[in-house]
Amino acid sequence: MSRTFNFSAGPAMLPEDVMRQAAHEFLNWNNSGMSVMEMSHRSPEYMGVAHKMEADLREIMAIPDNYKVIFTHGGASLQFAAIPMNLAEQGDTVDYLDTGVWSHKAIKEASRYANVNVVAEGGSDNPTEIPNHSTWTFSPDAKYIHVCVNETITGLELKDDDLDIVFAQGKPVIADMSSNIMCREIDVSKYAMIYAGAQKNIGPAGLAIVIVREDLLGHARQDTPTLMNWDVYANNESMFNTPATYAWYLAGLVFQWIKKIGGVAEIAKMNELKAHKLYAYIDASDFYSNSISKHNRSWMNVTFNLANSALEKTFLDESKSAGLLSLKGHKAFGGMRASIYNAMPEDGVYALIQFMDVFAKKYA
Ligand SMILES: *Cc1c(COP(=O)(O)O)cnc(C)c1O
Repeated sequence: MSRTFNFSAGPAMLPEDVMRQAAHEFLNWNNSGMSVMEMSHRSPEYMGVAHKMEADLREIMAIPDNYKVIFTHGGASLQFAAIPMNLAEQGDTVDYLDTGVWSHKAIKEASRYANVNVVAEGGSDNPTEIPNHSTWTFSPDAKYIHVCVNETITGLELKDDDLDIVFAQGKPVIADMSSNIMCREIDVSKYAMIYAGAQKNIGPAGLAIVIVREDLLGHARQDTPTLMNWDVYANNESMFNTPATYAWYLAGLVFQWIKKIGGVAEIAKMNELKAHKLYAYIDASDFYSNSISKHNRSWMNVTFNLANSALEKTFLDESKSAGLLSLKGHKAFGGMRASIYNAMPEDGVYALIQFMDVFAKKYA
């Protein structure tokens, strides 16, 4: 089979240029006589790769100097526990906005380490809209406020008007951006800490990125495991133990690719266009529908249902034959989901729309 358009929610497709470069230098990186995978993480060659990766990430996200960038193990999920451990003592109150499954998971884990106040409940397991702002109840003594900026399973995204209310509380804001980091430009300085698993918009699985303001470091509770303590990562260039070296290298290639095509601002234009085209097609069709409130539709994960759900299997079989992969929605939400992260070319979205149109005409 030739390369397909892969709409998987994660691990997700990576830019073809990046994959080609990695393949080209797989056996012999930069005339070193070995693969990056085989290199000591302490070698000057590898340190060069690591430093460039961090510098490029800082540049494309315009990360201010008073923030540390750390590269961790354990995915975004390990941060669900690391966040309260680094920022709160047992019994302290912490605020969490509940907008879906990933919020729930963060809340559940944080509840083991702190007293979680749920700022606003989504109302169901898979909310299709952001709870009305008037229902949001922050606690005056919360140590921080946690948000999941993009709920990957439903495709529900917090927008600026939602986030502005959170920022206005004057508390450290902690943001899970696993599925929408670098999809558009953001002002990092509004956040205390941003985290993301790499396998959606950054690179291969096995690496998570934590961007944390320096004044939040050094307060981890006594019993925090060493490898969950942000301070330890910050003081050891994220190399207290052996890092996921190859995943770092590939993430570095993705950052170079973003720079080459014009940075996050340019990517954002493409993302907006891709999402707009797909939602516009779905909205204009009687055959497909999207249940997420229009204002909060995700740019990255576009969910949709077929008017006749009995056709779902046929849709998946035929789309696969057409080279459009992994369109099945998450089992918790059902239906279909097209994840159109940064690496999904515009052509992939056009091919999907064209397929959907032919399918609708065939089975309407
Ligand atoms: C995928 C995802 C996670 C979990 O990431 P892991 O790296 O698998 O732990 C957490 N939050 C969001 C929003 C996600 O999309």
